[in-house]
Amino acid sequence: MTMTRRWRATVRLAAAAALLVATAAAAEAQPSATAPPPFVKADATVKVSDHVWVIPDGNVPLVPNVGIIVGSRATLVIDTGLGPRNAETVLREVAKLSSHQELYLVATHFHPEHAAGASAFPPGSKFIASSVEAQDLKELGPGMIASFSRISPVHADLLRDVHMREPDVVFDDLYRLDLGDVQVQLMALGPTHTRGDTGAFVEPDHVLFAGDVVMNQAFLAFGAQSSATTWLKSLDRLAALHPVLVVPSHGPTGGPEIIDQQKQVLTELRAAVDARRAQGQTVDEAAAALTTEFQAKYPEWRSPARIAAAVRTMYAE
Ligand SMILES: [Zn+2]
Repeated sequence: MTMTRRWRATVRLAAAAALLVATAAAAEAQPSATAPPPFVKADATVKVSDHVWVIPDGNVPLVPNVGIIVGSRATLVIDTGLGPRNAETVLREVAKLSSHQELYLVATHFHPEHAAGASAFPPGSKFIASSVEAQDLKELGPGMIASFSRISPVHADLLRDVHMREPDVVFDDLYRLDLGDVQVQLMALGPTHTRGDTGAFVEPDHVLFAGDVVMNQAFLAFGAQSSATTWLKSLDRLAALHPVLVVPSHGPTGGPEIIDQQKQVLTELRAAVDARRAQGQTVDEAAAALTTEFQAKYPEWRSPARIAAAVRTMYAE
């Protein structure tokens, strides 16, 4: 009982701190040459629950919220930062928290700011991925590294000669990782933002690392392989875990309500798309009209430019 109350209080404090950071930050910038350089920040690690630390993204594009989960026997890192140099910053933060030889890595999806630092992890470490994410890393990783390298010379430098590391452990739908006194559920959630999105639920602490599958008051990023149907199912799966703290891979953390909010927006958007398609509107007309409509309906939500891609996916589904 006391344990439960203590972590609840810790988590609540951390959520409040994250909210302050979010409020202070201006509108989310898109990745561009003029954005701040995508560096994971040193000495900024925050403890969010008994076994979980986060290096916050500082609202910098192409920097993830990095997770560090420390059990009694082993340590898990979630997301590497953009390229090996950022991963080295992450590993220095890990070394401050634990000296475990047994080290695991999970990337929430194959995009370079989440996975392209994996080669900097020590040879004895184990990189765990779902079979679909492994396929993404192999088939789509090199092309994505090339396109991220074109953003600016800084990005090119961080990704120079980088090859995606091949996973050491591959699972299909669910993998239970044992860190000693801490169990972590790794879940294949795609196709959502990508085919191979992976979530991580730290069981004793009720902390969920949601990747780009859940964001806090930001429209979700649909891509060429996204499915709204799977996305809604995955949101149900995550809500059923009853997390106390949700750490998206970008932007501020939140409580379980941010899963419900995303579900509500996707459900409303899908109903609106179905109605406009039934009226004979083209996909372009629906995308333009619903961007305006949902931007007005959710004025605080970031990245309204993403609505059009969601409409296109839903229109085709
Ligand atoms: Zn991504």
